[in-house]
Parts: sequence; C-alpha cells; structure tokens
Amino acid sequence: MIIILKQGSGKSDADPILQQIRDQGLEPLYMPGDEKIVIGALGDERILANLQLDAMECVEKVIPILKPYKLANREFKQQRSLVSVGDVTFGGQNIPLIAGPCSVESEAQILEVARAARQAGASMLRGGAFKPRTSPYAFQGLEAEGLRLLEVARRETGLPFVTEVLSEHDVDNIADITDMLQIGARNMQNYRLLKAVGSTGVPVLLKRGPAASMSELLMAAEYIMSEGNPHVVLCERGIKSFFTDTRNTLDLSIVPLLKCETHLPVIVDPSHGTGVRNIIPDMALAAVAAGADGLMIEVHPDPEHALSDGFQQLTPAAFAELVTRIKSVAAAVGRSLDTGC
Ligand code: PEP
Ligand code: MN
Repeated sequence: MIIILKQGSGKSDADPILQQIRDQGLEPLYMPGDEKIVIGALGDERILANLQLDAMECVEKVIPILKPYKLANREFKQQRSLVSVGDVTFGGQNIPLIAGPCSVESEAQILEVARAARQAGASMLRGGAFKPRTSPYAFQGLEAEGLRLLEVARRETGLPFVTEVLSEHDVDNIADITDMLQIGARNMQNYRLLKAVGSTGVPVLLKRGPAASMSELLMAAEYIMSEGNPHVVLCERGIKSFFTDTRNTLDLSIVPLLKCETHLPVIVDPSHGTGVRNIIPDMALAAVAAGADGLMIEVHPDPEHALSDGFQQLTPAAFAELVTRIKSVAAAVGRSLDTGC
C-alpha cells in the first residue's frame, strides 16, 4: 500500500501514520520526495483497511499495491531507479556495456580482454571466477585466484567488474572484492542466496531463470530488495523453448514489459541468450531498440581455445565493431553510449 500525503505535509504528519503501520505488524517505509511525502506499508495490506488512513486530514491518496512484488513495482515508485556501480549508472539515458570473458582463465587473458573492452567503449568488465557448469567435469573457474585477477584487471584499466556468486557461503568474501554481484540464471530462485546478497548492499545483477515468468523474476528481485538492498539490475538472458536452433530463446519482449512493470533497470545478455556468435551483434542492437538499459556481452581474445562458452564469445575486434553499430541504434532511440574512456 502507498499513502501519498498532501503537499506541504511534513515528518510530523507522517510519524503517526508510520507508527500505526508498525503497530499493525507491517513494515513502514518513509519516502520524502521533492514535492510530497510518500509512505509505503509492506505486508498484508488487508490489515490496514480498517485504519481508514484515507480519512486523515494530511492524506491525499491511498493506493493499494495488488501485485505480490511491492518494492520492485512501478506503482510503488514511478521514477526509474538508477543503479550505480562505481562511476557507471544503469537506468539512465546512457547505456553501459559490460564486456569480458565467460570465465577468467589467466592474468594475460583477463588483462587483454579488459584493455580491449575499455578501448572499444565498454564501461564494465565481466568474468566468471566461480562457474555454474552443467557438467561437474567441466572447468569450474579459478575461484579465489580468478577474483584476484579481476582485481588486477580493474587496477590496470579502471573498469569496475561484475562476477557471479554461486553460494551463500561465498557472498561475504566476493562482496568485499567485487563491484557488482551476479546471480546467475540457474540460481534465480535460490532464496537463501538472494537474501544473502540482499544483506550486502552491493549492487546485484539478477539474471532471469531459463523458465521464469516475469512475475517470478520480479519476486526474486523482491527477495533482494526486502533485505534492504535496492541496487538491483535485471537481465534477460534467454529462456527455454521448443526452438532449439539457438542455445536459448532471447525473449526481448520482456524488456518493454518489465519497464512498464518495474522501476528497476533492465539489461540484456545476447551471448547466453542466443549462443550463436554470428547473431549476437544483431540481437544486441535489437535489445537496445527494445529499450534495454545496458548489454552484457562475452568477449575472449581467443574464443576457439576458451575454457567455457568459446562458441559464443566475440573477439575484441568483433566487439569493437559492434560498439560502433550500437552507438547508431542508441542514438536512434534517444539513448547514448558513454564509452567510459
Ligand atoms: C554467465 O553470465 O556467466 C552465466 C553463467 O550466465 P547465465 O547464468 O545466464 O547462464
Ligand atoms: Mn558463459
């Protein structure tokens, strides 16, 4: 439920309402805006119906939030959220590009990609240190050493980085080092992990599960936000479908849909979304045209010899060429690309 106070109301008007909400066992949220004070009430809203808050002198309007996701809901917050990762901002007019290898493999590899990505116009680096692999026999990532190498690359290039956290037991260690925590598609509904990253305050990149509905994705975001971490960026990365000619089916329709439904930024990962190197650039452009607030693209200096996802990684040269094309599409839809350099 949202309670909007009349213009000119102050904290002294809000306080008794906040107390009434608390007394009913619900969680009150105080959100003073430039013009009006907005109060949120989280929990079973039916309890508040009896209080007749809309009859109070200072209350302009009481709006129930019918959707199960409250904090992530656009009804709750009309203004788009800006999520900052260092100097990089998601959700504004600018479209940040995140580029880097599927897995961190060596110092030489991550440094080469990081330098090339920065040069081409990426503003963030990606790289998996803890890898969620379908096979237990496949390369599982360099783990702690991978994190150290990401730090080396950040020091060298100034690019902040995002890296995946697979287990709630690793959250604190990784959160101390990384600029953004990634929740992978396979873990979108790992609720203890979501709560753990929610309690860090570190920005989170939440990837859509391969079979998740929009509502399930937003409920996953709600888990993170309800722990007190509002810095969530959503990522479409393809879903399972009958269409097996691509690795996943990149569901770009969820981008404009999400932007009606939530104030959170939405980015797209066309690399995992298609798994087909040749079509990644076109789908990246389509994502920008559909309103994506950023892109995440896998780039490797030598994709043929990559330890994971070699078939879908772009070379630095192909990525640089793509960036010039993204700039044109971004401009056509009223967005821009801050190259970070
Ligand atoms: C990744 O981005 O490294 C990854 C494993 O992607 P996803 O979780 O979308 O499969
Ligand atoms: Mn990958």
